[in-house]
Parts: sequence; structure tokens; C-alpha cells
Amino acid sequence: MAKRTTIRITPRVPRAPFSAPPSRVHGRTRRQQKVGEPFEDGTPEFQKPEYRFCPRCGTLLEPALEHDVTRPTCPECGFIVYYNPAPAVGAVITREGEILLVKRAHPPKEGLWSLPAGFMEFGEKQLDALAREVREETGLEIRAATLLSVEDAADDPRTHALLIAFIADEWEGEPRPGDDASEVRWWPVDNLPQMAWQNHVRVVEKAREWLGL
Ligand SMILES: [Zn+2]
Repeated sequence: MAKRTTIRITPRVPRAPFSAPPSRVHGRTRRQQKVGEPFEDGTPEFQKPEYRFCPRCGTLLEPALEHDVTRPTCPECGFIVYYNPAPAVGAVITREGEILLVKRAHPPKEGLWSLPAGFMEFGEKQLDALAREVREETGLEIRAATLLSVEDAADDPRTHALLIAFIADEWEGEPRPGDDASEVRWWPVDNLPQMAWQNHVRVVEKAREWLGL
């Protein structure tokens, strides 16, 4: 990999299939998704966490209607509990027909494999989060990445995660396991181990299509 001193944080102009001509973009393409379809992974495993007390002032929360949704609300200070999905970032890192995966060291899905990925921190930009997660789990330094796909997750019991998946265009270093990973390995793209998350499987399929692997 070429040495670079700067991190390019603006995703590059996407290549195929996003570079399809407008008639295909606005017509029916492989990328089109229909509104109202269920989660690709079936019935969600995650559940809304229950909050009883206001995290701001400690008062018992009460249900209150806001914008047609009933939310736990603090009658004392007005704090409202919003249940939002949690964005995560993940990287497809490839080398000569192989893809880098990490083995999960902790529950959930301990012992299964995934792309280097993790939840964003509050106030952290997406590519900074990507670089951090990849560094923590594999020791590699991402220098440039291209947006590949955005995927819901129904099979993470912790929360409704939304995975933002990138292809790592430029990176350097030698993989070594760290943080939440007990092992890091290059796997042939056509012979992957059991994956922890279904949306990572879909991301790998899209990456293979995109990169011609
Ligand atoms: Zn309160």
C-alpha cells in the first residue's frame, strides 16, 4: 500500500453500480428497495430498552404522546426518551481475493466472524469512526474509503443497529487482533466462516459484486 500522510475523509465518487445511468437509477435496479418491506433478517431480535427514571433529574418517567408516538417523558424537567437506531460503521478490506475478518471475543455472537465494525461515538464523523474501529480491532490504518452500502440489522439483540459499510481503498499495516477481536484472518471470499451478522453477509456479497471478486 502506498504511504499517505493525509486522511481523505470525503468518500470518492462512487463507481458501479451507483454510476449506472439515470434511467436505471430511477427505474428498477438491483439496488432499489421498496418502502414497507420487513427486515431482511426476519423478525427483529432487539427490543426497546425500558427506562423508568429520568436520566437528567431522577424523576419517575411517564408516558406522553408526542408526534403520534408515546414516549417516556419526565413530568419534572421535560426530558423525553427518544428511541433511535444506533449507527455503526464497518470496513471491507480485501487483498488478492481475500477479505479480512475478525473473530468476536465477546457476546453477543461470541466466536463468530464479522467485518471490522463497531458503533459510532457521539460527535464522531463516520470515517473517523471507521478508522478507529479498524485500528482497534485489526491494527490497520485506513487512509481512504468509499461508501458501499447502508444496511439495517435485525439480529443484534443489543439495539436496532444501522450499518454504514465502506470499502477500504487505501490502508496500511499488518493485521493483529485487538480490542473486541480474538483473532484476525484473511479469508478467501468464496469460503467464509460463519458470520455473526446477516447484514455483513450482504455487505460482502455487494463488495464482491462491486470489486469483481
Ligand atoms: Zn427529569
